[in-house]
Amino acid sequence: MLDPEILVDFRLEGAPELIRGRLRSWDSHGIVGSFGTHAWEELDLRSLNQVCFELIDARVAADLVFLGELQLRRVDPEADHRAEQTFRRALALDPASRPLIEAARERAAAFERAQAEAERLRAAQRLQESMPEGKAWAASPWPVQTDAEQAQAVLDLREETAALLSDAGLPETEPIETDYFLVYLVNAPGDPRGVIRDLDQMYRKIATLLDLPEVQGRPINLFWGKAVVIIAGEEGQFRLIEAHGFNQKVPAGVVGLCHSIGPKVFVNTYRTPDDFLFASVLVHEAVHGMMHRFVTPKRLPTWANEGLADWAADNIVPGRTLDAARRRQGLDFIRGGGRLEAIMEMNYEDGSWPGPDGVGYGASYLLVHYMIDQNRYGFADWVREVKAGGDWREAMVSEYGASADRLVRFAREWHLTND
Ligand SMILES: [Zn+2]
Repeated sequence: MLDPEILVDFRLEGAPELIRGRLRSWDSHGIVGSFGTHAWEELDLRSLNQVCFELIDARVAADLVFLGELQLRRVDPEADHRAEQTFRRALALDPASRPLIEAARERAAAFERAQAEAERLRAAQRLQESMPEGKAWAASPWPVQTDAEQAQAVLDLREETAALLSDAGLPETEPIETDYFLVYLVNAPGDPRGVIRDLDQMYRKIATLLDLPEVQGRPINLFWGKAVVIIAGEEGQFRLIEAHGFNQKVPAGVVGLCHSIGPKVFVNTYRTPDDFLFASVLVHEAVHGMMHRFVTPKRLPTWANEGLADWAADNIVPGRTLDAARRRQGLDFIRGGGRLEAIMEMNYEDGSWPGPDGVGYGASYLLVHYMIDQNRYGFADWVREVKAGGDWREAMVSEYGASADRLVRFAREWHLTND
């Protein structure tokens, strides 16, 4: 306690306004007074020096070492420079203060390490805002799992998903296990059979397109164990699972996401009142999961990654609602003079995808649809080559049989006159 209290004024780092008040007490952490409590680190460097000189005795070496330590704690070259000056003054006053200075240096370094660690933790706790499909993956082949490893992986996934749902405060749910999926219906109303049929159909559809080998009449299982599919009853629960389970911030309007975590695949979505939307999103996200596990985790270029997921969704979900929406959007783009080359340049990484009004989805749907219609085997070969690490443009020529320029030209001409 200071008696009498002393009048000080200071500024906080990054804030222009001058704070004035009566200082009651201080220690190595900071100052307390009519202005509240502030750590030394909160003050700007100039204020730190001024306030400190009011409090310490600049003729006493130990007091100067105290100030030097506060200066040295800051991640700021100017402050470090000041600290060295202060230590030199202390040494000049009392050569015996050298061990004191060494101890102060060590404490300041430990303080900076602790600050950096705390910042790292805070950063990790902040929700991730970028979209999960935008993560970069290397073209290293997935190892093939033995049956025993597969079975163990399923057990691990069950445990992990139970913990994830409990973290989000949701009830314990027993999954429905299909050939390829572990489906969790969390407070989700309705008959799950449609969902299961859609997922298994999607798997077979993509398996046929990519010519996956079969074992006992069934396409081989690409997943690590199985793909986990969580279907929440409502949007709020979906968002809780995203935040607590996947550390993911969800932009408005997003109905489902696929999270590829190492070899594991989790699809998270919720039961929207619109049946077509629900089923389309479910299949679309599940395709992302399947493609994650096809050959290597390397992604196709964004337009193809998204176009293929929509192509599958349109093939499986009855009613062709998705086709109607995407096709209209894509045709409007092409006939309005939009450049398909620009769509092929868009990507998650630089935020250009999906472009204004999500136009990337419509145009990419048409491109992939057209590619598969023209040459489905070439398309499958192209996918394989890109997943194996090939450059997608070069692989268009070598595997698909037409350069990207040619494809764009033909696709454009076709859609100018055909719906
Ligand atoms: Zn997608």
